[in-house]
Amino acid sequence: MTQTAIHTKWKFVIEFEDDETQEISGTIGQADTREECEGLLEYDMEYHRSHGRTVVNAEAAEVCAKCEGEGKIASGDGGRVVCDACGGRLGPISNLTSSLRSNEKEFLLIRLGDFSGRFSPRQAA
Ligand SMILES: [Zn+2]
Repeated sequence: MTQTAIHTKWKFVIEFEDDETQEISGTIGQADTREECEGLLEYDMEYHRSHGRTVVNAEAAEVCAKCEGEGKIASGDGGRVVCDACGGRLGPISNLTSSLRSNEKEFLLIRLGDFSGRFSPRQAA
């Protein structure tokens, strides 16, 4: 039996405060790979900063691409069945958070849970 990696995708959220109105807003997005996700996060954070906003939160989560971290997918008859791609994994597989306070463009990857055998993440080449 060949072992296949779960196909995952990244969902991210960036929250920022408008320096004038003090209003907090957020944007969400998604990417196929961690590299792409980090690139998008950096780009968006720069964008908001250059538009007079303070980024207050930026994080991303890697989820099963099939069920998006729900652990369940819709079945044909309108019900929901356990996702066969991840075996019903609930929640993100890993998280990315940025160290905003130090103003560094470093992202910290937090690998959640033990997927040995079941999940083999694609490593950065
Ligand atoms: Zn799944």
